Amino acid sequence: MEGTVFNSQKLTSNTWLIFSEGCTSYLLQGQKAALMIDSGFSTENIQEYAQSLVDQPLTMVVNTHGHFDHTGGNGWFQHAYMSAKALEIAKVPYPSLDAKKYRTDYIVTVVGDGDIIDLGGRMLEVFEIPAHAPSSIALLDRSERILFTGDEVANFIVLVWMQNEPQPYVEQHARNMEKLLRHRNAFDKICWGHGDGFLDADIVGRFLEHDHLIMAGKESEPWVPAPDGPADFHMPQPEFKRISKYLDTNLVFDLRYIRIP
Ligand SMILES: [Zn+2]
Repeated sequence: MEGTVFNSQKLTSNTWLIFSEGCTSYLLQGQKAALMIDSGFSTENIQEYAQSLVDQPLTMVVNTHGHFDHTGGNGWFQHAYMSAKALEIAKVPYPSLDAKKYRTDYIVTVVGDGDIIDLGGRMLEVFEIPAHAPSSIALLDRSERILFTGDEVANFIVLVWMQNEPQPYVEQHARNMEKLLRHRNAFDKICWGHGDGFLDADIVGRFLEHDHLIMAGKESEPWVPAPDGPADFHMPQPEFKRISKYLDTNLVFDLRYIRIP
């Protein structure tokens, strides 16, 4: 399609990465239905764009978490899957956006641990992994051996408080990584929420090691938020924020939120 903000990259024979505004979206093609993972916040019709790539009906979106940069395009779909916590915030546009431009009358089905979304010959299994956001889920596609992680397997942003939500603990992130690693034999590749291609699945183990190093007192540096950061970025008390690097993982965290009390 010409003249659109969207463009795409084919990742496997039945999986596309779609660049839009807000986040990276993924289009999954099953035998009976297609599905979008996260919908960005472009006001252009991402459903129409993605439907032009596949024959199966594309009426459903699933959100990895409730942040509006992942849910703003949901209104182009009939039906959205998301966690109960995501539903509390998913329909509220960021303050810098024009709320009138977003449809929020789509139907929501709440999903949680162990739920399955069936596309026909291709199933997505839900794992709750709340740290970056209390609403976060990962989606495991066993047939393509891909794990979709939203912003929970993510450098820099994962433990940064993005909106009016509880500051995440490093230990909670470690628990999430342990949970994902229990299924490590079922995936080889990771697609994350602002990615431009696959991440190597072993990064989950390196994030877990990094979390443990921080919990054991690893040195870190003061972290200064970029002055030209996103308009809706929420960063209370930056003096407590630290940055730590380990191999190819980078974690920004709050010194007061390392171990869960
Ligand atoms: Zn997010």
